[in-house]
Amino acid sequence: MSVWGRGMRKPVVAANWKMNGSLELCECFTRKLARPEFADVWIFPSALHLASLTDYFRDSDIATGAQNVWCEPEGAYTGEISAMMVKTLGARFALVGHSERRAMFGDSDAVVAKKFSKIAEAGLVPVLCVGETLEERESGLAFEAVHRQLNAVEDVWECQDYSHEVIAYEPVWAIGTGKAATAEIAQEMQARIRDHIDRKGSGKSDELRILYGGSVKASNASELIAQNDIDGFLVGGASLDVDEFNQICEAVKS
Ligand code: PEP
Repeated sequence: MSVWGRGMRKPVVAANWKMNGSLELCECFTRKLARPEFADVWIFPSALHLASLTDYFRDSDIATGAQNVWCEPEGAYTGEISAMMVKTLGARFALVGHSERRAMFGDSDAVVAKKFSKIAEAGLVPVLCVGETLEERESGLAFEAVHRQLNAVEDVWECQDYSHEVIAYEPVWAIGTGKAATAEIAQEMQARIRDHIDRKGSGKSDELRILYGGSVKASNASELIAQNDIDGFLVGGASLDVDEFNQICEAVKS
């Protein structure tokens, strides 16, 4: 048994600021963000704020990542950034497949798979977001939807070492709605995701960190983190308040 009580999986608390934040918020995080030893803390600010936050946290245990990258290494893609640019800054992670990008910016399963490969090839850790819509859940197709999203990536990226990638289960109906999945629903899906990865054959799914995302707050974090297959959180709205975010970090301590 490890110190973390869930195999070798150290809990993660990650902040997805989306298109929010400012230099003031960056400054506030650099002053007030807790530095827990029992959890990994990652911040995904806007691309504009990524350089300064990465620089500030360079010699600390706090890591940063990009919310999105384009799926080509360089070229005439106005407004985009590449995985290698993010890596060169010193950031360590990139989100890919967030439901907002899938729904609003045309990130199909195929595009997500391509971006995932570019992120991993650049030496960043991809944080692959998957999750079903309300319609899919209500029609009993939640697992199928998540499996389809996982398969699309696995078809192009054969991973042998799951300690170098992260999956975030984020049911679309729970994102930004204030209605988090129940601990049972999240646990059930996250166990299925681990099982799915296991069946793919590497036998290392116990090293894969699977985060839950969707209306996580200080008030529901303890119940969620108590589940076997919930290894931490991807936090949107509540990550914009450093005190609340610190409380969520504290909640993963157990
Ligand atoms: C997210 O967008 O990744 C997210 C989890 O958002 P929220 O916490 O606001 O639901």
